[in-house]
Amino acid sequence: AHLSVSTTSSSSPTTFPGEDRHRVINLDHGDPTMYERFWQQVGDKATVVIPGWQSISYFSDIGNLCWFLEPEFAKQLLRLHKIVGNAVTEDRHIVVGTGSTQLFQAVLYALARPGVEEPISVVSAAPYYSSYPAITESLKSGLYKWEGDALSFSKEGQFIELVTSPNNPDGYVRDSVVNKSGGVLVHDFAYYWPQYTPITSPADYDIMLFTLSKTTGHAGMRIGWALVKDREIAKRMVKYIELNSIGVSKDSQLRAAKVFKVVSDSCESSRDTTESLFEFAYHLMVERWQNLRAAVKRSGMFSLPEFSPGLCKFTGRFFEPQPAFAWLKCEEPIEDCESFLRSNKILTRSGTHFGVGPQYVRISLLDRDDNIDLFVERLSNIRKDNLYQH
Ligand code: PMP
Repeated sequence: AHLSVSTTSSSSPTTFPGEDRHRVINLDHGDPTMYERFWQQVGDKATVVIPGWQSISYFSDIGNLCWFLEPEFAKQLLRLHKIVGNAVTEDRHIVVGTGSTQLFQAVLYALARPGVEEPISVVSAAPYYSSYPAITESLKSGLYKWEGDALSFSKEGQFIELVTSPNNPDGYVRDSVVNKSGGVLVHDFAYYWPQYTPITSPADYDIMLFTLSKTTGHAGMRIGWALVKDREIAKRMVKYIELNSIGVSKDSQLRAAKVFKVVSDSCESSRDTTESLFEFAYHLMVERWQNLRAAVKRSGMFSLPEFSPGLCKFTGRFFEPQPAFAWLKCEEPIEDCESFLRSNKILTRSGTHFGVGPQYVRISLLDRDDNIDLFVERLSNIRKDNLYQH
């Protein structure tokens, strides 16, 4: 059966007319529940059955530098990268993590140099992903220190620059910005997949992070992976994960391998039909961005980033980025966009968490159809003329 991309959700709760007006729409988190519908339609092909005797041992592949990496998961992720063409995988070590959140912490541990007096600086160009400062500062570590916006970073010494491309929250494709030596780049490619942005070339960097959450939508499986060139850095990342959680759930890795296999099989057999995960998500994002831009235009109170189109080598399509988040700016006289939208029962995350001002908010566009539709409709009805009636 072909998968439809219509906006009627099969999983939405039953609602009644009038009720929607009062419903709080929570788009604060980037919870990728829009993928549920795809996987429901895939059905049993993506089901895994794990017998009781399986996954007993801590170990997965004792000969591998990453000894808790399930070989089938490694095989399927290499296959998917090859099909999509979004990352160079040759001469890289794969480190699996409990989400890329754990891998980020493993990178901090791996790059820090114990014994050095000054902690290593951690920076990223604003607006940056709000978890970077939160995680970096969480343990008040003496090994590393959050130094904020990479664009205004001028401190001496070693530093780590986080390059998120496409960026969370604003969706732009990015390059490193710090123009001095002594730095190590960490590329977060959570969104470098063809439903969000054109795949222009395979990414080829020393430390690259990926996550299942934004690839197939399985955020709850908590699986991420790093492609790491340097053996010593990869080894220290593995050491961190050993200390932190003695490895990564085998059950999750086996499930991840299965969903990757289904995605790769569908790409190979029907690249341009909606049976492919990337086609399903691509069309849904096209529709969501079109509706959102129309609503913003109708309202006249907000603005959104504009993107230049690019050629996607995976699909052969020429298209504009259609990010997982809307980076919305409230126009005057609204100063605090988050509170303003909250007064309209729309929960978002303020620009202040991303190193910029409160005129901006980040809004997840990966939620279920009914929530996104209601959000877009509500936004389009916020007008200057009735501003003071809210
Ligand atoms: N990096 C970026 C840029 C993200 O947006 C996210 C998810 N919001 C993550 C990392 C973390 O993903 P995971 O679910 O794999 O921990």
